[in-house]
Amino acid sequence: MIITIDGPAGTGKSSAALAVAERLGFDFLDTGAMYRAVALDALRRGTNLEDARALAFVARHCRITFDWEKHPPGVLLNGEPVGHLLRSGETTRAASYIAVVPAIREMLVAEQQRLGRERGDIVTEGRDQGTVVFPDAPFKFYLDATPAERARRRVAQLRARGEIVDYNEVLSQIVTRDHRDATRAVGPLAVPPGARVIDTTSLSQDEVVDQIVGIVKGSPAK
Ligand code: C5P
Repeated sequence: MIITIDGPAGTGKSSAALAVAERLGFDFLDTGAMYRAVALDALRRGTNLEDARALAFVARHCRITFDWEKHPPGVLLNGEPVGHLLRSGETTRAASYIAVVPAIREMLVAEQQRLGRERGDIVTEGRDQGTVVFPDAPFKFYLDATPAERARRRVAQLRARGEIVDYNEVLSQIVTRDHRDATRAVGPLAVPPGARVIDTTSLSQDEVVDQIVGIVKGSPAK
């Protein structure tokens, strides 16, 4: 069974998807990590991020795999564990160039569909999982939250890591990224038809997970 969870950055999607997968005994597929892994490879090769053909070449020649024995699954780039390198500011920025290249999206979408068939029961998280990758999934969710709340969460996360960040700058990055995600030609961020929208602005992560698990198990939480 496939459960899709889409939505913009900072809605707590990744943590919620991972927790739902653990509660249900499903595998967790972090599709953003695939875009980030291609971005990391492109950065390592010194590829021009404005050159879509060069980026597609990188994507075609790198191998992204998951170690399903780990929780969350480990991300491997050409066999090297790279999970700890994927969340840096530089990789995050580069990933948004990767995500707009149609040829790369095509490759990663096909790979995600293959993984869905291979793994069977998955909770998959991204921007286009319910719209493009698994439109027939029986359970689709779309998490949202106000930009201000998402910026607040992101700032708290970065400060906990010891980084010095400015709230207004983070907010403006979120607004810019939302715009780029929603307006790209292929696989834009959108609420999938038939998805349940959960506004997480004033919900804790446990409340979000309870709602999703409740719906999947057929007893919606109040
Ligand atoms: O979700 P995360 O922040 O890890 O995503 C990294 C990048 O990949 C973002 O720029 C996001 O827009 C993009 N992405 C995407 N489609 C997905 C998952 C992520 O375009 N299914």
